[in-house]
Amino acid sequence: MLTGSYDPSLVLISLCVAILASYTALDLAGRIATAKDWSATLWVAGGGMAMGIGIWSMHFIGMLAFSLPIALGYDLKLTLLSLAIAVISSGFALALVSQERLPAWQLVIGALAMGSGISCMHYVGMSAMLMQPGIDYDPLLFGLSLLIAVLASGAALYIAFRLRRNTPYVRLARAGAALVMGVAIVGMHYTGMAAARFPEGSFCGAAPSGLGNEWMAVLIIVVTLAIIGIALLTSVLDARLESRTALLSSSLARANQELTQLALHDNLTRLPNRVLLEDRIEQMISKVQRNGGHFALMFLDLDGFKPVNDAFGHHVGDLLLKDVASRLRDSLRSEDTVARIGGDEFVLLVALNDPDDAMTVASQQVSLLAQPFLVSGQELRIAASLGIALYPGDGASQQELLRNADAAMYHAKDNGKNGYSFFEQSMNTNARNHLQLLHDLRAALARREFVLHYQPKFAASGEPVGAEALLRWKHPQRGLLMPDTFITLAERTGLIIAIGEWVLGEACRQMSLWYAQGYRDWRVAVNLSALQFCHAGLVDSVAGALNRYQLPANCLTLEITETTAMRDADASLAILGRLAEMGVDLSIDDFGTGYSSLLYLKRLPANELKIDGGFVRDLEQDSDDAAIVSAIVALGQALELRIVAEGVETPRQQDFLTRLGCDSLQGFLFGKPVPAEQFIDHLSATA
Ligand code: C2E
Ligand code: CA
Ligand code: CA
Repeated sequence: MLTGSYDPSLVLISLCVAILASYTALDLAGRIATAKDWSATLWVAGGGMAMGIGIWSMHFIGMLAFSLPIALGYDLKLTLLSLAIAVISSGFALALVSQERLPAWQLVIGALAMGSGISCMHYVGMSAMLMQPGIDYDPLLFGLSLLIAVLASGAALYIAFRLRRNTPYVRLARAGAALVMGVAIVGMHYTGMAAARFPEGSFCGAAPSGLGNEWMAVLIIVVTLAIIGIALLTSVLDARLESRTALLSSSLARANQELTQLALHDNLTRLPNRVLLEDRIEQMISKVQRNGGHFALMFLDLDGFKPVNDAFGHHVGDLLLKDVASRLRDSLRSEDTVARIGGDEFVLLVALNDPDDAMTVASQQVSLLAQPFLVSGQELRIAASLGIALYPGDGASQQELLRNADAAMYHAKDNGKNGYSFFEQSMNTNARNHLQLLHDLRAALARREFVLHYQPKFAASGEPVGAEALLRWKHPQRGLLMPDTFITLAERTGLIIAIGEWVLGEACRQMSLWYAQGYRDWRVAVNLSALQFCHAGLVDSVAGALNRYQLPANCLTLEITETTAMRDADASLAILGRLAEMGVDLSIDDFGTGYSSLLYLKRLPANELKIDGGFVRDLEQDSDDAAIVSAIVALGQALELRIVAEGVETPRQQDFLTRLGCDSLQGFLFGKPVPAEQFIDHLSATA
């Protein structure tokens, strides 16, 4: 029996190599777990290579550390085969631990496969010595070496799997685990070596031609360390890069989340906006399709919001909208949606057990908003018009439901505001008519379809003092249209600017004719819309019209509503100031319907207050209105303004108003608006 001996420094080196290779393998397993697609495959291939070479070189250095009293060498082919086995089983092990899950049975199979891989490598490596006669193995130690290989592999796989995620102290834990694994691998090797017995007289068949000397060991150590080092370095650098990327992407995700919040909510009220609403409607539709049930889509538009905004400014308007939003929000269940989709437009999305419940919800909301609001010390009153579309029934898609709820809302508004209506198919026809009307309106001016009718104004003494020019549209299909059917549309589209310019010119032309006929103290009154009043060219176009018809400025009265005059008070003052300087007569129309500030009213260069027809209409029944009219008259007298009452229909109204001290009267009692050709004849008929 030949007794072998070991070179202690090489043994130590083989242990170090095993530990280092184990550490690298554990680190790489972590990389593979977090890498994606093809880069994971690359890591498995590279990692298997580095780890395989590491384990194999530990083994080979261990063999080189071993010496017998005879010359030893290693057959090249078999040595390379053992290397290949090491690389393949390492790659297999790495692929295994980079799996999402590692159930027990897979761990067992993995441990068996890798353990037998390592054993195979070892014993193939041994056989590369080509000993003659063959090596005797002690069965007990041989079996022990296999057991160590399998157990060590199992432990290694388990540890690698557990340590692959970046947990705290992961480096330290990996170092500890690498130590255990390294010792186990080395232990297997030396147990296997201890099992080997070389009979007396053996000789090594590979000694003359094979590998095997000192410089060979050095070469292998250097190459192995280089490979493991490179693998480790790449892995560490990549991990850094990845953690930086992770940091970046998490802050990106946060930013994204904030953006989404902004993009899906209204800034002022924090309610969902249209985008989010549309999504919620879609969800609700599919929920009802799946589980049955109903929901209502309610389109809500505030009545009287604009006057508040105009009179008190945007700040108060904004606060009011916030209050409205929270009133609506608080009155609904948390699973219902309240969205704000426009200036004073809100949409409610309400799940219902019974479609009849929609009525209760709708009337609740309407009366809720009719309660006064207290905003920065002011008591404000607004109302809401609400249109309801039900699902299933009133539309198949989110767009259709919204459109129909909108149409129903317009219907509610037409029916006198502060109420609700359910959608009906006929309302869609209205919407289509609306579109057609807009189309026609755009062409009306060029087609000369507008005309002015004139309604006389009388002094208290009964003398005619002029006329108010009122716009009419001779629609080719629909006949004569009154201003309330198209003025809002013209304002909303800006067409009112061109139309208003035409009205101004036409009224001046007519007045110049009357002037030439001798009615030199008459005035023609022209209504201005809010938009015209804000328009920069107003003063010039008034001057242009007067100039064109050689009309004294004092023959023209411009009527602006109280609300328009009170909006942006300073700008109004400037414009009215310039018009007054020209000598144009100014009248505040619909007085009593807006929110006037007395202080401001005093500074306005107006000449006339026109009491709104609404107060006159109810004079006889409503004592409140009588009180208001008396107050307005008193106010106008104090401010030295002419007081005009419009909408006078009965002699009793006339009597009351003249007794109160109104300067002039206008109304059906004295004459309806008529075309210019009939005006003079009608006058003499009434007189
Ligand atoms: P407004 O300026 O308050 O005009 C008075 C409205 O009351 C006119 O209605 C007139 O026909 C009506 N009216 C007059 N006397 C009586 C009466 O005794 N009883 C009743 N029930 N009504 C009476 P119209 O012509 O339909 O005009 C409605 C509104 O359209 C006007 O209200 C004015 O705001 C606007 N408008 C009319 N013409 C123009 C225009 O050329 N430009 C602008 N921007 N708006 C105009
Ligand atoms: Ca008027
Ligand atoms: Ca009026």
